[in-house]
Amino acid sequence: MSVEKFIAKIEQDKEIYVEFLRTLIQSDSVNPPGNEKNVALVIEEFLKDVNIKTEIFPFGNNRANLIAYLNENFEGKNLLYNGHMDVVPPGFEKDWKYPPLSALVKRNKIIYGRGSSDMKSGLAAMAIALKVLKELDLNLTGNLIFNAVADEETHGKFGTGWCIDNPLKSINCDFAVIGEPTGLNPLPKAIIVGEKGHLIIKIRTHGISGHSSMPAISENAIYMMSKIIENLDKIDEYVPKSEPPIKLEKLKKLLAVTFPNENIFNRILEEQPEIESLLQALINFTKALTMIKGGIKENVIPDFCEAVLDVRPLPGQQVEPITEALKKLIRDDVGYLVKDDSTIPPGEVFVEIEIVTATEGSYWQKWEESDELNDFYELVETIYEKKPLYFLLPGSADSQYLRNDGYCPQTILFGPGKSRVAHAIDEHIEILDFMRAIKVYAIFAYKFLSKK
Ligand SMILES: [Zn+2]
Repeated sequence: MSVEKFIAKIEQDKEIYVEFLRTLIQSDSVNPPGNEKNVALVIEEFLKDVNIKTEIFPFGNNRANLIAYLNENFEGKNLLYNGHMDVVPPGFEKDWKYPPLSALVKRNKIIYGRGSSDMKSGLAAMAIALKVLKELDLNLTGNLIFNAVADEETHGKFGTGWCIDNPLKSINCDFAVIGEPTGLNPLPKAIIVGEKGHLIIKIRTHGISGHSSMPAISENAIYMMSKIIENLDKIDEYVPKSEPPIKLEKLKKLLAVTFPNENIFNRILEEQPEIESLLQALINFTKALTMIKGGIKENVIPDFCEAVLDVRPLPGQQVEPITEALKKLIRDDVGYLVKDDSTIPPGEVFVEIEIVTATEGSYWQKWEESDELNDFYELVETIYEKKPLYFLLPGSADSQYLRNDGYCPQTILFGPGKSRVAHAIDEHIEILDFMRAIKVYAIFAYKFLSKK
């Protein structure tokens, strides 16, 4: 079957697909708490009329994962399409131009709503690709497995993590695509081959409270935290150097592919500090203090202060040396006891460190040797009429569950939407981008599963 025939078939059902996506956006799956089952039921309904086998795995309170298969045969090549059903909270609704659950269509071109980019458009496009292949009844040798997951926005343990360990465990995976939004505006579409980890650390200072009229006899926990913050950059010296998966020069080359020539690329690099900071984030671990709270009353010296440190390790970088570095600076440079050093006697001044989340980064080592990935690249270039770029993600998604521990290292991220509008107010998706993603997913699956 030709690419043109696929495109014609998909264009013909455009209105149905746009309505399906709107229904997904309108189905509340804000996480926390999740409620992903609302979305799973809409997908099941959509796939039902062409006899696609769909399984829903419920858990918790109205939460669920979903798996659907093109056929019952898992002996040939298996292609996995993964997309998350949950979305982040919309924030204050009145800040939005249109209500976040409205899925309002503007000028027939743009759909607004929470999750439109991240990633109900990618999720819908994958479900549609599966349906298109089923409708066309193409006698394929392999199988397409569509996995709609919960829990991605809260680190994926109950979603992709659970699915890999349970229903997908016995199924061999030859290639996987996660449909996250990979438009890195102002750059063209990216095909993501690696992503950073995510470490969230709570730092708690425990001081001694007292009356604020006699501060000298107390130990102010906010001042303690302030001393730690002043010294925080020392972590950079204490953490052992970790090699980035792709070095700076190579990253620049990967970026330059999308510009007409090297001079233009170098000029853009100089003019756009955002690109330089993106590159720096991809070759170093980063840290940012993101929350702080302390104090109970204006005339009480606080005996407690808590700050949240958000750290993004490189793929392959161990988490433990980072937490050890933090403890070292608190102990040696600031001079406070760190709680797990010894038992702290009552009334003692100390600092407590809690690891809230530790998600590893991941990287597909051999992506440059893959013919299938090259096929994917060429297809994206054809459908999007522009060269995409291979790149890394400074954030993190669910690929670590697939890539690490060897389940499916050959996992990429590619999907409709722009990463910049993800999690933002007035999140939206261009219908053109959504339609193109359907074509890429459907045609790639057809080509991949036709090959012996
Ligand atoms: Zn996402």
